[in-house]
Amino acid sequence: MENTVHSCLIIGSGPAGYTAAIYASRAGLKPVLYTGPEPGGQLMITNDVENFPGYPDGIMGPQMMEDLRKQAERFGADIRSGMITSVDFSSSPLKVMVDEEKEVQALTIIISTGASAKWLGIESETRLNGKGVSACAVCDGFFFRNQEVIIVGAGDTACEEATYLSKLCKKVTMLVRRGEMRASTIMQNRVLNTPNIEVLWNTETLEILGTDGVEGARIKNVKTGEEKTIAATGFFVAIGHQPNTAIFKGVVAMDENGYIHTDKISTRTNIPGVFACGDAQDHIYRQAITAAGTGCMAALDAERYLASTGH
Ligand code: NDP
Repeated sequence: MENTVHSCLIIGSGPAGYTAAIYASRAGLKPVLYTGPEPGGQLMITNDVENFPGYPDGIMGPQMMEDLRKQAERFGADIRSGMITSVDFSSSPLKVMVDEEKEVQALTIIISTGASAKWLGIESETRLNGKGVSACAVCDGFFFRNQEVIIVGAGDTACEEATYLSKLCKKVTMLVRRGEMRASTIMQNRVLNTPNIEVLWNTETLEILGTDGVEGARIKNVKTGEEKTIAATGFFVAIGHQPNTAIFKGVVAMDENGYIHTDKISTRTNIPGVFACGDAQDHIYRQAITAAGTGCMAALDAERYLASTGH
């Protein structure tokens, strides 16, 4: 066990965590940040980021995360490798276990553990990830302007992203694995009434085709057994996200999908001194800039909490 009780401990190293670290270190909280199993988070598997304000020529995702890390370190943030494997928030100071072996204590905790996109789990999807396969239409749709793309999924996200892509792309083929969609009626109708979106029902992806880039997909109608190949240069997977919040289950209040509840326009959770930001608590916007924004809010909330409790 480490003897120090830190003022602020940040869990996770995406744009939310690093922004929280920048603000907390500049406020003199000497934050400790544990990077987690995927340092840098989802942006590490993104190529060009063109929609983060301040980068007129765009920036590579990994470079942006490196810059954010350096910016946090410049003000003294203590950035450590390690994964938080369990937490004890039953009393103050709050306690976390690092890599199942070291207990670390803090007066405030900022949860910025992010979310992970769900994937189909086929080999060609992994091989072509970042080479035409993407789990974020808002991030990557622009690269497929006037081209033909495929999107898999049938929830609100898939409908929203298909609609978004239809405005940029020549044609969007939406692959729905059952004979109906899970999405809300209004979102479905938007898809069904868009002329350049074609929905293929009862359809599974067997393989994404291409070597250095996506060229199409081999698909199967699960009702008829018919297999065919369709051409496309982009392949979007929109089958949901999984917030990385399992270690907080039963401790921090969350919705049925595992997204942490925060109080009104704040990052406060149900536990005093524990704050949540980024994709761990946001299933709606999920952008680097919104994650960074809530990371800033979490650091300010933590600072105010410490002041209000006499620290
Ligand atoms: P959902 O879990 O709601 O939907 C996932 C979809 O992906 C389902 O239709 C599911 O199919 C399909 N799917 C899952 N696995 C596979 C697979 N291996 N192959 C093919 N299809 C698969 O996730 P969403 O991200 O769409 O939504 C998450 C939450 O966020 C929801 O509560 C949603 O309402 C909300 N949301 C709201 C928005 C809004 O209001 N503007 C926008 C976006 C999201 P099946 O139905 O067959 O299980």
